[in-house]
This record gives sequence, C-alpha cells and structure tokens, in this order.
Amino acid sequence: MNTLEISSRLDYDQDDKCSYIVSTISVDGADLSNGFTMDWEALAESCRKPGEYFILTCSCGDNGCAGIDRGIIVLHQKETVKWLVPDPMDQDSSGISDIFTYSEKIFDMKDYRSKIHDAMCELRTLALETKPAPVLLPRLFDLAQLEKLIGRKCPVGEQV
Ligand SMILES: [Zn+2]
Repeated sequence: MNTLEISSRLDYDQDDKCSYIVSTISVDGADLSNGFTMDWEALAESCRKPGEYFILTCSCGDNGCAGIDRGIIVLHQKETVKWLVPDPMDQDSSGISDIFTYSEKIFDMKDYRSKIHDAMCELRTLALETKPAPVLLPRLFDLAQLEKLIGRKCPVGEQV
C-alpha cells in the first residue's frame, strides 16, 4: 500500500503581483507533481468513480498545454484505489511519445477519500485566511467550486 499526501502552500507571483496557492501531491514522500498543477476537480472526481484523470495538468487547466497527453488511470477495487501513473508524465520530456510506462500506486480507499477531503478543507482555510484573496490553481478554479467539491457526497455516502 502506498501513502498519499497532499499539501498546499502560499506563493507569490512577482510578474502578476499576486499571491497564489500551490498544491502538491506526493506518494510515499516523493513529490509527484513535479512542477505541474494539481486539478482539484479531477482529484475529487477520482474518489467517486474510476477513469482516466488529468490530476496533474498545466496551471491554465489545459493538460495538452503542459504536454500531458495521458492522464492517471484510476481504478477502484473493493477497498483500494489504484493509480497507473504515466512515466514520464509529459510526453514532451521523453522526446518519443510512444516510450512510456505506467507506475502503479495503491491506496486504501477510505484513507484516499479522507486525505483528499482534508486537503480541500485545508486549501479553503488557507484561501480564506489570506488577504488579499489568493489565486487558486488551475486558473479557472475558484472558491465557489471548491465549496461544491467539499460538500459533495460520494456514492457510498462518505464525503469526498
Ligand atoms: Zn497552459
């Protein structure tokens, strides 16, 4: 079983003169985000149903813009969530788009859902405590959408 950690911190954009929140995903202590932006909607949706998710994307929200053509494949098993993570994540970095592998990560489903829920609550607190209001990433994501994700129920009745 692997351990998922999600953390958010405040950063400052010198060019745009605004603060924004960077969130990172790590698995077993190793940063998976690697400079990509975490998509909260994709992450929350992956708690609800299996599929291919662009959990890591460009800061503008367009995965293709970051050279990511393949998402993380999320499989739901009885009590676990399995991730098949493309390696490399962005196909530009391999130079040859056909050469990639999937690395497998397995999480306890309950733990997965509660970690993501807690991380979203932590993000909300940080966003509300910061004045002036920071930019959330990806760029089109905002506090109202975050509230919606936090309030949503999972198919099994647990909150995401
Ligand atoms: Zn972009």
